This record gives sequence, C-alpha cells and structure tokens, in this order.
Amino acid sequence: MFQQRNPATGETGDSFPELDADAIEQRIARAAAAYAEWRLTPVAERAALLSAIGDRFEANRDRLAAIATFEMGKTLGSAKAEVDKCIAAFRHYAEHGPAMLEERRIDLGDGKAAAARWYPLGPVLAIMPWNFPYWQVVRFMAPTLLAGNVGLLKHASNVPGTAQAIEDMVREAGGADGLFQNLHIPSSAVGAIIDDPRVAAVTLTGSEGAGIQVAERAGRNLKKVVLELGGSDPFIVMPSADIEQAARVAVTARIQNAGQSCICAKRMIVHADVYDRFRERFLAGMKAVRVGDPTADGTDMGPLSSEQGLKDIREQVERAKAAGATVSSVGDAPDGPGWYYPPTVLEDVPLDEEIAREEFFGPVAMLFRAADIDEAIRIANDVPFGLGSSIWTTDAAEQERLTRDLEAGMVAINAMLASDPKAPFGGVKRSGHGRELSSHGLHEFMNLKTVMLD
Ligand code: NAP
Repeated sequence: MFQQRNPATGETGDSFPELDADAIEQRIARAAAAYAEWRLTPVAERAALLSAIGDRFEANRDRLAAIATFEMGKTLGSAKAEVDKCIAAFRHYAEHGPAMLEERRIDLGDGKAAAARWYPLGPVLAIMPWNFPYWQVVRFMAPTLLAGNVGLLKHASNVPGTAQAIEDMVREAGGADGLFQNLHIPSSAVGAIIDDPRVAAVTLTGSEGAGIQVAERAGRNLKKVVLELGGSDPFIVMPSADIEQAARVAVTARIQNAGQSCICAKRMIVHADVYDRFRERFLAGMKAVRVGDPTADGTDMGPLSSEQGLKDIREQVERAKAAGATVSSVGDAPDGPGWYYPPTVLEDVPLDEEIAREEFFGPVAMLFRAADIDEAIRIANDVPFGLGSSIWTTDAAEQERLTRDLEAGMVAINAMLASDPKAPFGGVKRSGHGRELSSHGLHEFMNLKTVMLD
C-alpha cells in the first residue's frame, strides 16, 4: 500500500494499493500492445496528443499543484510553476519535435546515398524521484511519446497521488489504453520489469545507489539506460562579479525546493578578494528565508519531503561539525510536526574529509574560499559528481576557462542553473550519463536506422 503523508503536518491522505505480479504482467502486456499501434501513428498525431496532454495539465493546474504540495511539501507557488513548466515542455515537443525526427541524407559519393531515419524502440521504463514529481516524469514522457515509444512509470513511493494524476491526464487527453501507465510498485519489483524482453530501455532519475542497481540490471540485459543522478554543484564567484546579485541568487539556488534539487548550487566557492563581501550578504540572505507552511503565501521554503531526509541532513551536519566545520548561520524553521530544517551555512569544511564531497539534499550550503581561479576549479572538481555549475564573472577569459575546465554537464554564466525543454540536460562522472530534453533527449531512446538508398 502506498500512503500519502503530508510532510508539513504528518497528516495522512489517500492510499493506493500495490500492484501484484499479475497486475504488473497485465500492464506490460498492455504497453506492448499499445506500442504495436502507436509506433505506426503519424508524428503529427503524436504531436497533437502532446498538445492535448498539455491542455489537460493547464486545465487542472491548481489541483495538480495541490497534490504535489500535499505529498512532498514544496511551496504551492513552486508546484504551480512546475506544472507550467510541464505545459511548456509538452508544447515545445508538439511544435518543434516533428522537425527533430526528420531524416538526414548522407552523400556516399559515386552517385550513392544513405538516409539516417529515427524509429522508436518500444516500451520504456522510467524510475522517477519525488523532488519535481511532475517535471521529472514529463521530461521523460513528452519526448518518449513523440518518438513513438510508450511509457511505464515507477514513481517514488511518497508521491502516489501525483503518479496517478499524470496517468489520468494522459487518458483524459485521449491517450490510448497502455500508452502511459503508472505502476504502484516498490523498488524491489523494478528488476524483473527491466528483465522483461518486452521492455526496451530504462531511464532513472534518482540517487547514485539506485543508479548503480538499475544500470547493473539493464547492463545484464544489454538494454540502453539513461541515468540522471546526484550532484554537488559548485557556485563560483570571482572578483568581477556583481556580488550583491550573486549572493541573492546563491540563496535562491540553495533553498529552492527546500534544497532538494539535483542542480541546486550546493558549494559556494568564492575568490578570497570578495569572500567577506559575499559571505556577509549570503549569510544574511539565508537567515532571512521564510520557512513554514508550504501552502501559505509568502513562504520561501517548506519542510523536507520525508522524515528520513530530515534525519540524513541532520546527521551530515553533525559529521561536518565533527570533522571541523563551523556552522556560520542557522535560519529559523518551525518546530514539528513537519519535517522542517533551517537554512544552514557551513564554513571551514576540511577539503580532505569525505563530507566535503557528499551531496547535501537539504538547505545546507558549504562556503569555501579560493585563492585564485586554479584553486576554485580544483575545489569545484574535487567531488565524484559532475552535474551542473554556476559561474559568476564578467571576465570573458575566466568564463571560457571555467566553462572548459569544470567537470560538469551544464554551466550557467552569471545566472542560476535551471533546466529548459529546449536545452540538453544531464551530467558526467557519478551524476550519470545520457541526456534529457532538447533533440538529444528525444533521440536517446530511438533507433537511428541507416538506410542505404537504392
Ligand atoms: P532514490 O531513493 O534513488 O529514489 C528515486 C527513485 O528510484 C524512486 O522511484 C525510488 O523508489 C527508486 N529506487 C530507489 N532504489 C531503487 C532500486 N534499488 N532499484 C530501483 N529503483 C529504486 O532517490 P532519492 O534519494 O529519493 O532522490 C534524491 C536523489 O535523486 C538525489 O541524489 C538527487 O540529486 C537525485 N536527483 C537527480 C536528478 C537529475 O536530474 N540528475 C534530478 C532529481 C533528483 P522508492 O521511492 O520506492 O524507493
């Protein structure tokens, strides 16, 4: 049974029965049958379905947002913004996706030519996290359906209502039976689905641990897998930057979604010449964050999504302190019953300690002082992850250098990093592999067929 539990109050909501083996089998069979039809539909028809799903999201915007806020505690305003982003993604792929599927002609010389054509692969299994419970699914689903594939979703156990609502939107938009199905299953049931020969490929957004297990299983089946895993993104501030602006954005970047975003800036690495100026403003900004009821107007940050998440972040801060870190700032947060944690800034985290390389999935920032750009790059790259990054400098040579040398899949210059349906999204190192969004995300789960023309 999957039970909704409100992280702000502890209150329980609806519960959703777990699928047994027979029910899972029925859904995979339905997905395979739907794929047999869907792969043959004209791309214009697939694009029209995406537009219709976008319209359903728009018509249900407030209700969808309220479900996410109830289940995982994000502010209602940010939940609505997330639904809006999903609508934009459906419309982007509906409008621009068909052009991404056009064939490419290749001149082979001697009067011969080939064509590279995009064909779908089959049912794709998506394993998704709770932190952006609509957006994570939609950035997989929109390109998948446009490609001519069909989707099976194993969503995080704490967002069963969101998972159900997404399936409902597809059905209400006119999606055929089996085109996109939500599976209320625990993670222990995932392996057997990956093994199933009717399932063509797998995508996972989540932790490193889950990534390893899913990739191993997919590897044993020689199935394509895309992994979007954790990150400990650097936010580098150089002397030429607008320090006021950088400090303001650093606060927003660190506390968005209560610090539970893979591309939140997590380590602020600041040049020694501007360290004190940045520090003063950043600490004041973190202290001023309004933490509380996620449904109330004016709340910047709600609770963490789970009791375990709260325990984990408390334990990490204790380990950082034991390793010699200083807690420089602690904001306010309500006492229980919600799983609240205050915005917190750590300094003097010893770089040779493991804790400096860990991902903090909560509103805790680490602040580092760098003597020069070389040291900033060294600190930034000294983590197992390589997802996003944000660099603050108006010096063109520094921008080039940082963009080239940061081990990251994404760099934002003088801005907070955010995903966009038009731009590729993904990481390197232990942040995973493959890309989502843009034409690159669309092509990940397709068969690029080479046709040697007559
Ligand atoms: P998680 O525990 O890995 O959960 C993510 C999803 O994987 C859930 O659906 C979960 O199901 C499932 N899962 C967990 N263990 C599994 C296993 N062994 N086999 C198959 N499925 C499994 O992740 P989390 O800790 O909740 O989420 C936070 C992590 O996700 C952070 O590290 C964050 O950085 C990362 N993340 C990455 C991105 C990105 O785009 N790179 C985006 C968002 C989040 P259950 O809920 O049933 O356990």
